[in-house]
Amino acid sequence: MKKMFFFTLTLLLIYYIFTRSPAKENLIAHVNNDNIIYLTRAKTQDIVELNFEDYIAGVVYAEMPASFEVEALKAQAVAARTYTIKKLASGTHICDDSTHCQAWKEADESEEYKKVAQAVKSTDSEILTYLGEAISAFFHSASGGKTENVKDVWGGEEIPYLLSVDSPNENTLMSTFFSEQEISYADFANKINHYTGKKTVSYDLSQTKNIAKFKKEIKIVSRTEGDHVESINVSGTTFSGTEFRNIFDLRSTNFTITLKDKTILIQVKGYGHGVGMSQWGAQVMAKAGKDYREILYHYYPNTLLEKQAYQKKA
Ligand SMILES: [Zn+2]
Repeated sequence: MKKMFFFTLTLLLIYYIFTRSPAKENLIAHVNNDNIIYLTRAKTQDIVELNFEDYIAGVVYAEMPASFEVEALKAQAVAARTYTIKKLASGTHICDDSTHCQAWKEADESEEYKKVAQAVKSTDSEILTYLGEAISAFFHSASGGKTENVKDVWGGEEIPYLLSVDSPNENTLMSTFFSEQEISYADFANKINHYTGKKTVSYDLSQTKNIAKFKKEIKIVSRTEGDHVESINVSGTTFSGTEFRNIFDLRSTNFTITLKDKTILIQVKGYGHGVGMSQWGAQVMAKAGKDYREILYHYYPNTLLEKQAYQKKA
């Protein structure tokens, strides 16, 4: 097994060396010679012209609290830059809607912004690559203890740099790490039925005896490698963890369910999809003395940190 691993590694290395240069050329093509990026403001549809690195500083400013450790901010800067390069390479526009691209906040005179801008500058032009190409550097607020394998969240193939890794002690720093929701059986059933558009749950739950029967029909079927809920069955219908998260507006799919006498208690850990870098996990590592490279290599295994992913104007 080990031999096989090194053999694969050697093959990957050879592939990497031979594909490296053309891939770089590709990246260069996506930021123009003046390093200008065009950002669409989602609310107004205004288009703002920005220096590429200034845009990245605005992303880090919006996506991570400036109070975070410098090494965490630097890791965030590389993740944001890499994410942007990858997005540009796919030919889509760049906007400031965090659900589509990344959030962005305008520069100001504050000490907070200066700190962020300095962190971004100290990682100037650095991106993470896999086999010579910018990676899909997804990140989220907190994983709940373990990040997610990308295929367990959005399906598709396994991606060697978006695998489940440990992300311990997020709860020691993040005040909103734990969240919970307690709802009546009737409300629970209503939300499920509203989502499916039919009587998935057909009991009259004002009757205690029906609650007893219904309780037996709620079951977490499987968990992912990252210990998040993969699928949950309610009255014979299976929902993915992500569907269930959306139905009940939960902060993540890392939850447990307790069936009480009159209510259902859903207890959630972490915040976000759980794929890629955990921001609070990065903060934990930075506080423990790790630098941004160690943070990035931890959350994005099998990648390489590279400078000069695109060409600066001389
Ligand atoms: Zn967008």
